[in-house]
Parts: sequence; structure tokens; C-alpha cells
Amino acid sequence: MAAKPTLAYVGLGANLGEREAALRAALLALGEVPGTQVLRVSPLYRSAPVDAGGPDYLNAVAEVATTLEPMALLHMLQTIEHAAGRERPYRNAPRTLDLDILWFGDQVIDTPELTVPHPRMAERAFVLRPLADLVTQRVSAASLQSVASQAIERVGDAGWADGAMGLKCS
Ligand code: ATP
Ligand code: MG
Ligand code: MG
Repeated sequence: MAAKPTLAYVGLGANLGEREAALRAALLALGEVPGTQVLRVSPLYRSAPVDAGGPDYLNAVAEVATTLEPMALLHMLQTIEHAAGRERPYRNAPRTLDLDILWFGDQVIDTPELTVPHPRMAERAFVLRPLADLVTQRVSAASLQSVASQAIERVGDAGWADGAMGLKCS
């Protein structure tokens, strides 16, 4: 019997190369992951790097349903990052693609390789703003207020990723 899918939220970011194309390609790749479907994608945001230099980021959050275990999903995300040319020369280095697991159902995970909920999400407007667009009731006004000083603006409406959605028939 197939495992019951879990609703997970994945943060997407890129600040090198063709950023929007990289995020679209990542959504397509995410939809091709076995047992995984992209259900919804937030509007697109542009944000200034936090604790780092380099070009502005494009960010979004995807809501996915997956039958994978959290660690298996993380490894698939890393494969997608690698295919997008992701390199890690130093912490918070500019990147062609970053895919982080924000929430995995209501699971709390604390291992050397994976921490969920994502440990820094509450400090980041580029996570909270798109997440709030998808799940308004789960992101409080107080948490949005606490990141209100961070430079971020919406640059694409909810349809920006339509071409990268709904192509999977299985
Ligand atoms: P940050 O985690 O602060 O956003 P980052 O995304 O730049 O930083 P990466 O270089 O992409 O960090 O990942 C470093 C390590 O973080 C990965 O090897 C992975 O094992 C680990 N990690 C822990 N928790 C998570 C998570 N929830 N999502 C993605 N990676 C995670
Ligand atoms: Mg990250
Ligand atoms: Mg990451």
C-alpha cells in the first residue's frame, strides 16, 4: 500500500545566474521526484542577501505532497541543487539554487543532517513572506513584524510559476 503523503514546505532561493529560470526548473524537477507533487507555489519575491554580500535573491516557497521520508526528500533537493550548479565555497555564499525544507508535516527533526522546522526560518523575511502567502493562518502578524526591516519586495504574482506546474500526470 502506498504511504500517505505528507504536506511539506520547501523554500527556494537563487542569487546567481538566471535566477527565475533556475527556480522554475527546480519546481519542475521537484514535481518529477518520485511520490512527490507540487501543489502550490507562492508569489515570487526579490530580497537583499541576509548576513552575506552578492546580488539580490529571488525567493519563493512551494507546498508539496510527498510520500518520501524527510531525509529522502532532502537528498532529492540536494540532487536538484547540484544539477543547477550549486557550489558551497563558504557559508551563505551566493548560489544558483538553494532548496531548504521548512516544514515537513508537523514533524520535529533534529539530526546532524536535517533540522525541521528549519532553524532560521523565523528570522527571515524571504521565508516568512512567501510562506504567509500560502498559509496565512500559520504565520503570525507578530513574526512578520519582527522581520519587517529586511529589504524584500514581491516581483511576481501567484501565476509566475504556472508553466512549471501541473505537468505531471502520475
Ligand atoms: P541555511 O540553512 O541557513 O539556509 P544554507 O541553505 O545556505 O543555509 P546549505 O549549504 O544549503 O545551507 O546546507 C547546509 C546543510 O544544511 C546541508 O548539508 C543539510 O544537511 C543541512 N540542513 C539541515 N536542516 C536542513 C533543512 N531543513 N533543509 C535543508 N538543509 C538542511
Ligand atoms: Mg538556505
Ligand atoms: Mg540550503
